[in-house]
Amino acid sequence: MAQDSSSPGGSLGVKAVDKVQAMIQKSLQLPKVKFLRQRMAEAGCTVKDNFFRAVVCQGRKGMAYFAPGHGIFVCSNHVTFQDEVNQLIIHELIHAYDDCRAVNLRWNNCAHQACSEIRAGHLSGDCHFMRELLRGHFKLRGHEPTGSKNARHRELISKRDNLNSNGYIAPSRPNYVYCWFSFDLDEPKECIRRRVLLSLFSNPNCVGSAAKDSMEDVWDICYNDTQPFDKAP
Ligand SMILES: [Zn+2]
Repeated sequence: MAQDSSSPGGSLGVKAVDKVQAMIQKSLQLPKVKFLRQRMAEAGCTVKDNFFRAVVCQGRKGMAYFAPGHGIFVCSNHVTFQDEVNQLIIHELIHAYDDCRAVNLRWNNCAHQACSEIRAGHLSGDCHFMRELLRGHFKLRGHEPTGSKNARHRELISKRDNLNSNGYIAPSRPNYVYCWFSFDLDEPKECIRRRVLLSLFSNPNCVGSAAKDSMEDVWDICYNDTQPFDKAP
């Protein structure tokens, strides 16, 4: 993981990593995060605070990833808001939970990854969250039409939208689970489907129609599997 932790941008990169690491510490106080970690511990997969790390991601469009056996990594150069970090941590923790509970789970298997992406998208509330966040952006713009803070805010959103609209570069390390996050206003299930497919594109075993076929094959069983929650929170 050394190359992920390095800072290509000198002191600016280091500052961003420190800032996002502090945001991660805040995320760890969320009841949902505590609940997931507790359930992982009960299943024999205790994860310490250093399981969650802010890193500089080079040449990637993703905002976070889960590396089985290593931890959860948040791309400090691709995130801006505390709410984003919260959501990323919860999404990746669902993957970590799946990795813990399913001994025969193989992340390079398209259907296996599809199942975990469906669950992570559903149980983390990613699609709800994006709607709320987007509403918040419109409100902020409406209230501060000329302020410099608003201009800066617009610039940040624009920068991030550009990052996410260029498609996804498949990573060279297929054992990692890269996740796609973007703004959208689809219906929740369509929103989840689209994001599952975008995440699967990073898996070399999900080429062509394999991604969609795998997702459809496992959709019902994985969407309805809400463990460790009694129902989708
Ligand atoms: Zn994911």
